[in-house]
Amino acid sequence: MSLDEINTRIAAAEVAAGRDAGTVCLIAVSKVQPNERVRSVLDQGHRIFGENRIQEAAGKWPEFRTQYDGIDLHLIGPLQTNKARQAMELCNAIHSLDRPKLANTLARLAQERGDCPDLFIQVNTGEEPQKAGILPGDADDFIKECQKLDLPIHGLMCIPPVDEEPSLHFALLAKLAARNGLDGLSMGMSSDFESAIALGATHVRIGSAIFGERVAS
Ligand SMILES: *Cc1c(COP(=O)(O)O)cnc(C)c1O
Repeated sequence: MSLDEINTRIAAAEVAAGRDAGTVCLIAVSKVQPNERVRSVLDQGHRIFGENRIQEAAGKWPEFRTQYDGIDLHLIGPLQTNKARQAMELCNAIHSLDRPKLANTLARLAQERGDCPDLFIQVNTGEEPQKAGILPGDADDFIKECQKLDLPIHGLMCIPPVDEEPSLHFALLAKLAARNGLDGLSMGMSSDFESAIALGATHVRIGSAIFGERVAS
């Protein structure tokens, strides 16, 4: 599917949900995609991208940034504390804040730098043992803890379990955000972004629908 088609579908989903046009941010997830495909999306004028591994992002985006202005890079995958500094240098937003140790490290570095990317707290809405994210029952306390550290918490993020109805998870994330006064909702991928927008997504993370299937690596 082309970038234009995705933008058209996002706009239609905004209208259908009674939301203002242009309120949903499209993060084009470029992980594992060949550079020519990424370049083609850049050439069409898109500037907001997502990567899930910091090493891969570091190998690809500094060079693109020398060639294209205004690139907005979002880290959407797990972050180890020993890569936090690099992530803060490279990324405009981090969607995977999921534990106190990482919050403390980010807070310390933010103080040192006088600057911090926008942060989303990842919630493991399906309570899956293998998946990152704070458990829903711990989310309220963790959000408050992060705010006490003066971290710029923009919103919440989730990745629903593959075999469950995603809208239940989107609704839960929206409820957790609303009761904590958070505006940002990073939810919705290639197969379910329209239902995420219906439930209030502010950031959709779309990879394969824009770039084509990822080549196994
Ligand atoms: C890969 C990835 C996406 C994009 O998935 P698609 O199904 O290709 O749209 C979104 N979010 C996260 C966290 C991802 O790792």
